[in-house]
Amino acid sequence: MEYPRVMYISVDDLAHAPISFDQQIAPGQIDFGIELHALQSLHTTGQAEVLHEHRGPKDVVADIRLRASYQAQVEVLCARCLEPVGVSLDQSFDLLFRPIGVDAVGDERSISPSETEIGYYEKDGLLLEDVLREQVLLSLPARTLCVESCKGLCVHCGCNRNTESCDCEATPADPRWSALRAAESQLRSPNKP
Ligand SMILES: [Zn+2]
Ligand SMILES: [Zn+2]
Repeated sequence: MEYPRVMYISVDDLAHAPISFDQQIAPGQIDFGIELHALQSLHTTGQAEVLHEHRGPKDVVADIRLRASYQAQVEVLCARCLEPVGVSLDQSFDLLFRPIGVDAVGDERSISPSETEIGYYEKDGLLLEDVLREQVLLSLPARTLCVESCKGLCVHCGCNRNTESCDCEATPADPRWSALRAAESQLRSPNKP
């Protein structure tokens, strides 16, 4: 199913006054990729405004400032056992977007280290859902675990060691057999590291 685009914020729309928004974004409406999905609607409220940066007498850059908060329930995979883990998010952000291309590489006016919260918009604006996607992904820890003590998957047979037991560890492995098993599991899941 194709979902409608959420909200396009353009410099023209903001020319006369800031825009306030209060949106419910249905699960699936933002594509987070295969490793994360929304369990419920994401709720966001905030305000967008245009700020004019005067860089010279005839050089005015129209920046979009976006201040918002959001609440979301998402599901990610445990980094050890790959079971889904629910995560509640309640975050806020204050971001500045410049037109893409104004901060050329090597430009003296390009971003200083204190301005890390700066992004770029293409053409004349940005999509709220794109900003939210990035913010949600950034807010998650690099590794989420189902429980701190998660035992993960058995490296020999691949069973979930939280819920299943296997004899792999108990049986001192004959090096020839473990080489064979390693080759076997490689064949079964060539994409696993
Ligand atoms: Zn786990
Ligand atoms: Zn095992």
